[in-house]
Amino acid sequence: MDLNQLWQLALEEMRVQLSRASFATWLKSSRLVDRKEGVFYISLPNDFTKQWIEEKYQKNILGIIRNLDSSARKLEFIVAGHEPKIISKRDLEIDLNRFDNQIDLDFKVDPETNLNPRYTLKSFIVGSSNELAYAAASAIAQEVGKKYNPFFIYGGVGLGKTHLIQALGNEIVAIYKGKVRPKYVSSEKFTSDVVWAIRNKRMEDIKKKYRDVDVLIIDDIQFIGGKEKTEEEFFHTFNALYENNKQIIISSDRPPQSLPTLQERLRSRFEGGLTADIGYPEYEMRVAIINNRLQAGGRQLDEKVIDLVANSIKRNIRELEGVLNKILFYQDRKGVPISEKMAIEIVEKSTQNFSKRISDEHILKTVASFYNVQLADLVGRSRKKEMVEPRQVTMYLLRDILRMSYPYIGEKLGRDHTTVIHSFEKINHEINKNSPFNQKILLIKEALYNGNKQ
Ligand code: ADP
Ligand code: MG
Repeated sequence: MDLNQLWQLALEEMRVQLSRASFATWLKSSRLVDRKEGVFYISLPNDFTKQWIEEKYQKNILGIIRNLDSSARKLEFIVAGHEPKIISKRDLEIDLNRFDNQIDLDFKVDPETNLNPRYTLKSFIVGSSNELAYAAASAIAQEVGKKYNPFFIYGGVGLGKTHLIQALGNEIVAIYKGKVRPKYVSSEKFTSDVVWAIRNKRMEDIKKKYRDVDVLIIDDIQFIGGKEKTEEEFFHTFNALYENNKQIIISSDRPPQSLPTLQERLRSRFEGGLTADIGYPEYEMRVAIINNRLQAGGRQLDEKVIDLVANSIKRNIRELEGVLNKILFYQDRKGVPISEKMAIEIVEKSTQNFSKRISDEHILKTVASFYNVQLADLVGRSRKKEMVEPRQVTMYLLRDILRMSYPYIGEKLGRDHTTVIHSFEKINHEINKNSPFNQKILLIKEALYNGNKQ
């Protein structure tokens, strides 16, 4: 059996063992490149995937390969290409969408602006839940940097924040024909740029990169809070742009006043601009989104099935789209209109997965699986040295993401609240000064935010 055949068989086996989404994310574009003296060399697209597979799937994969080739002794993962790269949340999202849609979304992110042309104001369906945000975005496109600065938009996961702020960027490019230059960046990317610059003493590059734009669009700002150096740099960037009447557009999962660790001065700056929230879409809007997608793809679906989907997924448009895609995919495979019964089945299966949203349990499990430790040890009294970091990270994330109180976290993990405060501060400090550690935290967060599709 040649390497390729062997790997295809192994992948088939992995496909059975893993769910579709995680299979696509982690193993797509992997290859078995070599086999020498029992060592199997597997190439993966990037560092992020490599770390994750090493942590999570190494054993599985070795077992599967061993069944196919008994000489297999060890796996060696290598990154194809050269530069280690962290996949942004957005890239991962696009990958997943692409796989789930089974439609070739051949959109290229513009390297200059980082904007994805897929997101337009035209394709953004408006309802009472996002009316104000949409109106503000449209007004800003006409009067960039003048009236509503900064523009701060917040709302829950999958409700259209990224879509709207990217669409606004694309609209600005279209209106000003390239004379006004927007730049989109996730706050993770901003953070890792700053960390890189500090380490390599290249702060000037960063200053130029971010202060040299006309419109700075920064997504998911909640991830910046608490990282002193990054926040400091962001503050200076913000001021430099603001004072020059450059437009700043920010998204967040919560309003400025609830960003827990953000410095007061930044928070009040945010509050000084225009703030708009995006809420849950009402029924009509959910139906409109479904119909819009169907129309764009030249597809049809039974009214009853549309109604069923619109009635089942109310709090997340990404999930709504995901279920719709699954149903369409199924219908395509079958070649006949999907039955209501089958649609119900698909909806039920999918919504079960969605209910695993980020919760304290979810954080505990993700940290445990990331560090490969037992959940019971994480919350137990064990004094093992290898439990120290996972435990502190858990406390940090419970506070950082869920904003739980220190005493509550203490109770949860059987620790005194002063220990929790100390842990939070220690991890926070580590994140600021130690970049590999920061990357680790980002990886865990990525897994939390994307891995709930697993
Ligand atoms: P968020 O950034 O708030 O987590 P996204 O902007 O990524 O959410 O939106 C999730 C998905 O839902 C995307 O595919 C986006 O295009 C779609 N979507 C969100 N809101 C709308 C809307 N109002 N009209 C059409 N599609 C939307
Ligand atoms: Mg987003």
